[in-house]
Amino acid sequence: MLTPQIADKGVTKHILRAFDLHASRRLGQNFLISPGVVRAVVEAAEIENGDRVLEIGPGIGTLTQGLLEAGAEVTAVELDKKLPAVLAETLRGYEHLKVVQGDILKTDIPALMGDQPFKVAANLPYYITTPILLSLLEQSLPITHIVTMVQKEVAERMTARPGGKDYGALSVAVQYHTEPEIVLDVPPSCFFPAPEVDSAVIACTVRQTPAVAVQDEKLFFRVVKASFGQRRKTLSNALKPLGFSKAQIEDALLGAGIDSTRRGETLSLEEFAAIANKLMN
Ligand code: SAM
Repeated sequence: MLTPQIADKGVTKHILRAFDLHASRRLGQNFLISPGVVRAVVEAAEIENGDRVLEIGPGIGTLTQGLLEAGAEVTAVELDKKLPAVLAETLRGYEHLKVVQGDILKTDIPALMGDQPFKVAANLPYYITTPILLSLLEQSLPITHIVTMVQKEVAERMTARPGGKDYGALSVAVQYHTEPEIVLDVPPSCFFPAPEVDSAVIACTVRQTPAVAVQDEKLFFRVVKASFGQRRKTLSNALKPLGFSKAQIEDALLGAGIDSTRRGETLSLEEFAAIANKLMN
């Protein structure tokens, strides 16, 4: 090990003091201080020597250090303008690290990572977890795994099955593109400063082909969005804003073998796909 382990409360406080930094609430800065959790993320990402990893929000380099120690080649995108200079010090001596200052939502990821497979690892800023995940999934990037810390409640939504209150558009998008699994529950005490919510590490293995076959992916996600947009409405009413006639919607539901009085939150991915595919005919 080249520098002390950053995943430690004393070391983290020392680094923040030395650089005159204050964890920014606005940027979702809750730094990991648990070496066990860093290890769990690295293990869930199945990091092997030479793996290319995109890290989102490296902060002061806590998870980055674990990834580098495991042999990853890390490209880290950090929004906070003060942190690249800090990372140059905290991770001094580590090879295979590239830090890019910028907003991950505005970053040209294909230009940054190229067309070879890579993994994503992160302790995501909680204020934009969902937009970041959806953007990664929707861009058809050559990502094999996404392993990230999220709010526990978000992890539960990502893995939810049809029928419950947690099941929604995020569950469908994540499960359409990946196989998600909650690998660890993480209490607030594993961060400095401690967040107000419980967290979880979730590992999403990206599917080679989506979970269900759809003729028009855009229409599939419009159907999903409309179905969950009006949760209390029956399907035939919820799908009205899509712009199809009442008869077309009724025909599609009938053709898909789905009772039009059901609610969107009871539908499986296969059933959403069947409705979208029937609407194409
Ligand atoms: N990885 C570090 C750790 O585990 O201790 C820090 C995690 S902290 C929860 C989230 C990090 O994401 C912060 O460093 C924050 O500045 C950064 N961040 C916030 N919004 C961002 C954005 N839009 N793009 C890139 N990084 C962002």
